[in-house]
Amino acid sequence: MLGLMQSHPLLISALIEHAARHHGDGQIVSRRVEGDIHRYTWADVRRRAMQVANALDASGLGAGDRVGTLAWNGYRHLELYFGVSGSGRVLHTVNPRLLPEQIAWIVNHAEDRILCFDMTFLPIVKGIHSHCPGVKQWIALCDADKLPADTGIPHLVSYEAWIGSQADRYDWPVFDENTASSMCYTSGTTGNPKAALYSHRSTVLHAYAAALPDVMSLSARDSVLPVVPMFHVNAWGIPYSAAMTGAKLVFPGGALDGKSVYELIEGEKVTFAAGVPTVWQMMLGHMAQNKLKFSTLNRTVIGGSACPPAMIDTFRNQYGVDVLHAWGMTEMSPLGTLCTLKEKHRDLPEADQMKLRLKQGRAIFGVDMKIVGADEQELPWDGKTYGDLYVKGPWILGSYFKGEGGDPLRGGWFPTGDVATIDADGFMQITDRSKDVIKSGGEWISSIDVENIAMAHPAVAMAACIGMPHPKWDERPIVAVALKPGAEVARDELLAFFDGKLAKWQIPDDVVFVDSIPIGATGKMLKTKLREQLKDYRLPSA
Ligand code: ADP
Repeated sequence: MLGLMQSHPLLISALIEHAARHHGDGQIVSRRVEGDIHRYTWADVRRRAMQVANALDASGLGAGDRVGTLAWNGYRHLELYFGVSGSGRVLHTVNPRLLPEQIAWIVNHAEDRILCFDMTFLPIVKGIHSHCPGVKQWIALCDADKLPADTGIPHLVSYEAWIGSQADRYDWPVFDENTASSMCYTSGTTGNPKAALYSHRSTVLHAYAAALPDVMSLSARDSVLPVVPMFHVNAWGIPYSAAMTGAKLVFPGGALDGKSVYELIEGEKVTFAAGVPTVWQMMLGHMAQNKLKFSTLNRTVIGGSACPPAMIDTFRNQYGVDVLHAWGMTEMSPLGTLCTLKEKHRDLPEADQMKLRLKQGRAIFGVDMKIVGADEQELPWDGKTYGDLYVKGPWILGSYFKGEGGDPLRGGWFPTGDVATIDADGFMQITDRSKDVIKSGGEWISSIDVENIAMAHPAVAMAACIGMPHPKWDERPIVAVALKPGAEVARDELLAFFDGKLAKWQIPDDVVFVDSIPIGATGKMLKTKLREQLKDYRLPSA
């Protein structure tokens, strides 16, 4: 027997309709590429998203056609999120931090018909346009009078001119909720990048989940600053969840330095911010130097790479800001787990709470997870046994765009490529990317554990632990360290800092001082590059 409730497809257009109808005067604040602050409302977003939809019709784009973006977090990008997907096209956010040839490859692979870009990225577009014959229109996200005349880019128009003459009413089409809505390529640290193709259904379900109290706890009382880029995994879904809840949105544009981010948080009374650890490192540095405090920020979600304990500690104990450690990936829309404690942990001593907070957290409803061994047998949830982390759920990838890489699933589960433990309360902790695992004498050493300890040393700005070949133990860990400006610490002193914090055999054999740790396009340490840089390195004991 079927239920007798109404059946409406879950569509992204419904999110912007809701925001405009119920939170029409809710604010969207953007720091523009031009440097000034732009303000308008959710009602304005809908109006201009409808102009985008009409402009796409006028440009002759059909259902499912891809519209690429190379853009910072800002109001025009937000309009594209809703106008492109809402009208049945696919929004393809491209990471501008990739190399120009990678960007051209991705634009061609996705078969983007239109590409919208912030003026910051004009040099990239100048370099790639002749290699992207499929792009019929290039749209600069600026006013008509800001567009230089002599770019040499054919079919180039300013965004304001493109949408300016279009009507601001549009009847959003109704279609199958499984229709593709947006896409994002993984960083492709191994081989060519592959794309996750999200659907309206997966996006709306993820938006519900992300807003839950044990996830981001978003509401109409929040002022939300996504520092996580809209060009990678939809800024962790925040634009959609903000529309769903009517939260105020604050966009940093391209100004991601500590001072700009801090000023925006204070100026716009931000209550909730989301970002990767490297962004917060810059902001905390700026705050410490200038003896600043927060007046409204009460929580921040940190993910993308392991959040160092020192960062959780500083946010909580110096600034009274709760840190929510999150884990996910492009293939998961991206949210998988989030670390919030349970009622029974309320009275735990601070040190024990900290141990929990360092974990990547509990599965969000909608995501199921398990850890498996080499034989694919499920491993116990004892907080000690580690194995390959598999996930499944309605916003987790089933296959890559164009079937790239064959069938990624194993028995219906998506193998994340991460190695993790899960404890009896369901708290998952990542120990490593499987390709970064260090195997010493048949035992695994967690590079994240080593890095977290090194980064707790006051002289260390950043640390990356990698395995080096060893004749007896197969591999031994070393830690590459970039020091804070002006700080000093000797190799032996830093090695001694690990005493008592790790078992003896887990302590790195050596410290290598480097000017900086290479960082990839999504803000993660690039260990492949570090290994290349250290290819002539030999262990003292090898
Ligand atoms: P990519 O494009 O490389 O897939 P993602 O942004 O999707 O980039 O990265 C996903 C990966 O990032 C995860 O599989 C995991 O290895 C790492 N990651 C994400 N969040 C965390 C976290 N909180 N702690 C440790 N690693 C994390």
